[in-house]
Amino acid sequence: MLEKIVIANRGEIALRVLRACREMGIKTVAVHSTADNNLKHVLLADETVCIGPPQSTASYLNMPAIISAAEVTDATGIHPGYGFLSENADFAERCESSGFTFIGPKADSIRLMGDKVSAIRAMKKAGVPCVPGSDGPLGDNPDENMRLARDIGYPIIIKASGGGGGRGMRVVHAEASLIAAITVTKAEARAAFGNDVVYMEKYLEKPRHIEFQVLADTHGNAIHLGERDCSMQRRHQKVIEEAPAPGITAEQRKRIGERCVNACLEIGYRSAGTFEFLYENDEFYFIEMNTRLQVEHPVTEMITGVDIVREQLRIASGEELRIRQDDVKILGHAIECRINAEDPKTFMPSPGLVTLWHSPGGPGIRMESHVYSGYKVPPYYDSMIGKLIAHGENRDAAFARMRNALSEIVIEGIKTNVPLHQEIFQHAAFQAGGTDIHYLEKRLGLK
Ligand code: ADP
Repeated sequence: MLEKIVIANRGEIALRVLRACREMGIKTVAVHSTADNNLKHVLLADETVCIGPPQSTASYLNMPAIISAAEVTDATGIHPGYGFLSENADFAERCESSGFTFIGPKADSIRLMGDKVSAIRAMKKAGVPCVPGSDGPLGDNPDENMRLARDIGYPIIIKASGGGGGRGMRVVHAEASLIAAITVTKAEARAAFGNDVVYMEKYLEKPRHIEFQVLADTHGNAIHLGERDCSMQRRHQKVIEEAPAPGITAEQRKRIGERCVNACLEIGYRSAGTFEFLYENDEFYFIEMNTRLQVEHPVTEMITGVDIVREQLRIASGEELRIRQDDVKILGHAIECRINAEDPKTFMPSPGLVTLWHSPGGPGIRMESHVYSGYKVPPYYDSMIGKLIAHGENRDAAFARMRNALSEIVIEGIKTNVPLHQEIFQHAAFQAGGTDIHYLEKRLGLK
């Protein structure tokens, strides 16, 4: 088993990883910026190393500083969490070439899946259903591109192969604007991602976002842990996630889950990963793979009883998966609210001193947060300050617990989106289940 690891992240996920390590007897090194001396996991870690000033580019994205921290503390592994360097193939490679275990997939897998054109190719080969599209990069011939779009049928979406974070995409509704849209998306992609490869897909108008969680070890075993519905989004950012996805049958779960597992085996994937799909008219369409732990992993943990972070640490230590596909059982329903330090109406970030913090509790309630009374939310990072998770024997029970928890939580000193969550949990359409990815923005009058 890994003896000591560097946690190359901050906030709730760093604390989540630290807790798993402490349970498993793995020593921890918290690396942090000068703005993060008072983070909960920094106070709890066995060792701490300050890696730079507040700006992420100089600290949490500073590869040499993180690798040096691992060297001076004699750590054996590095956990990247999510965001920051978690999907940076060069970082994974540098960790391993410096002699540290990267607690995630191999650099090759990150690279393959980080490029959307190559990811889609690999997925098609593995039998994973994809969105009808150009099957590769668009060339420079306008007639050919117009023919392609006509064959696919409007509306279509032009996407940058190197894109991410909801950027580098453009929807085209009619032929008249196609060629200009390709030119502009290419130029933007070149500027933003240093790669102007773009491709074309059918634009799905009312899809849901459904994703499958997988785990794969280095001994040729892979399993899936079912799916999550993350359709409640604002600006492509997930706001609420739940598992299982309402209305998805055991047969669908098995069929798509098996394809994802098959894809993992074909590409030699290891560690935790997520296959993201758009779901429309009872069909699944792969859009991308996230080669890391995700924010919303707890809802899957709650319904399967599998500790995904612990499994990542085991896999990175070279152990075999202990869980077989047949052992994976789905128990009840879980839902997660992302708690952000922001104005619930304008969504403007609201950093500052948290004067009072009370976590909710009771059966089935889980709070993942690094915040405490007296903690100051720095202005430099993502506004998410925690995740509230409710689990119940069915969806209604989980909802009832979430409503209770949202009414109990007390956060004073800063603004949060708790009032927004309280409102969403009164929506009849959300309660009914199966709302699409545009629902929230439309309902909030943002679209
Ligand atoms: P990113 O890596 O930037 O997150 P994705 O490929 O995951 O890019 O797409 C982000 C979001 O864009 C999706 O969640 C969905 O809302 C929208 N989107 C992407 N492809 C399509 C498509 N073919 N049809 C409709 N919406 C799409």
